[in-house]
Amino acid sequence: MFRLVPNAPELAAAGSRLVVDAVRGDDVAGAGYEALAAAEPGGAYVVTLDGPLAPGESTEVALDFTLTLGSGGFDRVGATDGVSWWASGFPLLAWEPGTGWARDPFVAVSGETTTSPAADTTVRVSAPAGLTVLMTGDQSEPGPADADGRRTWTSREPVARDVSVAAGQFTTAERTTPDGVRVTTGALAGAEPAADELADATVAAIDDLTAFLGPFPYGTLTVPQLPDYGGGIEYPSSILQASPSEEVLVHEVAHMWFYGMVGNSQFRDPWLDEAFATWAEAVVHPTSAEGLDRALGVVGDVGAAMDDFRTWQQYAARVYGKGGAALLAAREAVGEDAFDAAIRCYVDAAAWTVATPDVVAAALADLPGALEVLEEAGALDAG
Ligand SMILES: [Zn+2]
Repeated sequence: MFRLVPNAPELAAAGSRLVVDAVRGDDVAGAGYEALAAAEPGGAYVVTLDGPLAPGESTEVALDFTLTLGSGGFDRVGATDGVSWWASGFPLLAWEPGTGWARDPFVAVSGETTTSPAADTTVRVSAPAGLTVLMTGDQSEPGPADADGRRTWTSREPVARDVSVAAGQFTTAERTTPDGVRVTTGALAGAEPAADELADATVAAIDDLTAFLGPFPYGTLTVPQLPDYGGGIEYPSSILQASPSEEVLVHEVAHMWFYGMVGNSQFRDPWLDEAFATWAEAVVHPTSAEGLDRALGVVGDVGAAMDDFRTWQQYAARVYGKGGAALLAAREAVGEDAFDAAIRCYVDAAAWTVATPDVVAAALADLPGALEVLEEAGALDAG
């Protein structure tokens, strides 16, 4: 089962579309689309095999596909003057190890709904020589332009759940953090912040977060800056930064731990990435923490699934706001050192898996004061 994220309702409305052109494989018996409440041709492409695979047995399936980029906006796929980007722009294996295929419907509320396993991933992008590519993975410098005036960029990320690629007329800046993480940022002409400033802010965010979360999960991080659409979108070792806000940047860098390394079903347990990224942002930025002051009073369970929300405002208030505030309050209840140590245990235990709230509860088992706060907020089940 492959999820076709670009066919999500809001992406399709902007003109994006992902179509599978061909499927190959020795064991392939048939294939077809499944709607999952997405736009035509559907939200998933399901490949049927001749027979079930035994545990540990493997098969190879190859898909050819065509992605159409819609108009630019705050979303995963788009194009505008001087830049185009496509993230989740391919049939994404929708497998949750230990649970099964993720057949979750797409929802009208803008937000991620995918589940995908970390995988050894290689990406090759051929682009006109005037463009710079910034993507998921440790990317090599492109070779010289070919006869068609195109250069080919290659990257590899051994633990990518998904892939983001941006190609644009970027000016780039490169930094290496004290721990050896290579950061590459890209800014379009006249953009604020410029690539150098963005690179310094990214290194600072990595340093601040590493101090209480533990080592940065990846060897590299690329941050292509898009026009200001009012936010950012996290991908493994790459961020589509569509805001000049430093708070947003810290939030997206925090997602490298919560979503990138500690995966989750973004449909079933959206708080496991969004509340934790909001919490980490608030720990680093006092202004973000002040913004969460009254969020604990928001009505409803933090731990709700994506189909529980009617509007983006409701989703943001409960999952980001109340969820982030609950984690801050839990930290205050038991002390930062004990809480942060437990969260590092959670990150370590759940690294490169698809985590569940049970794993959070297990990591906090010795801190009943923290569990109580998270149960009260409806993040964890009581008892
Ligand atoms: Zn987020």
